[in-house]
Amino acid sequence: MGFNVAIDGPAGAGKSTIAKLLARELNFIYVDTGAMYRAIALHLLRKGVKIEDRDRFAAECRDADVTIRYEDGVQQVILNGENVSGLIRTEEVGNMASASSVDGEVRAKLLDLQRNLAKENDVVMDGRDIGTNILPNADAKFYLTASVEERANRRFKELTEKGVACDLETIKADIRERDERDMNREIAPLKQAEDAVLVDSSDMGIEEVLECMLQTIHKVRK
Ligand code: C5P
Repeated sequence: MGFNVAIDGPAGAGKSTIAKLLARELNFIYVDTGAMYRAIALHLLRKGVKIEDRDRFAAECRDADVTIRYEDGVQQVILNGENVSGLIRTEEVGNMASASSVDGEVRAKLLDLQRNLAKENDVVMDGRDIGTNILPNADAKFYLTASVEERANRRFKELTEKGVACDLETIKADIRERDERDMNREIAPLKQAEDAVLVDSSDMGIEEVLECMLQTIHKVRK
């Protein structure tokens, strides 16, 4: 069994930024489980499945084989042999991932892949149900969150810097909708594990969040 760090939290809380830095600092691998759900979402979109077609999610993802590999330490997501890492970061794919991850069969498809990675490696794994469901015995667990306003502002800034036209109120509404879906679904909803450390980054910088998590991890590793 590897040393396992689990980070859960809502969309836009900064999980992937922090998880990547933590993994580098600890010399662990970073496992981005959201990217796996996004790969399945891409598969569904390519088949013409729409967000409303909930009853098609399970059947249409049966022929989706998702694996990951690392290139220069960076996780690549492979969908039926194709590296789709560059295609899954759009809002369309994110929204489809949020909708289709509600389905039990979609979730079951990724469970072994995630657990095996944690069994065989020291990992920092981020997602929505890592501390509660995937790795209930993780060595360190964090619930990283921030206010809706702060998360929307960060996303707005990120998109604007990339030259993508966007509207703050629309981003806020999208975040609220995603929170609602992730937190209220029947299977593996997003919630703080009882033994997870709560980190609210609304008024914290990246360095501060990182330092706080490293302190907890070092205490456990001693
Ligand atoms: O984190 P990211 O935005 O890439 O995740 C996309 C979607 O995948 C989330 O909105 C969430 O609904 C779903 N997801 C999940 N469980 C995980 C990781 C992501 O349900 N462990």
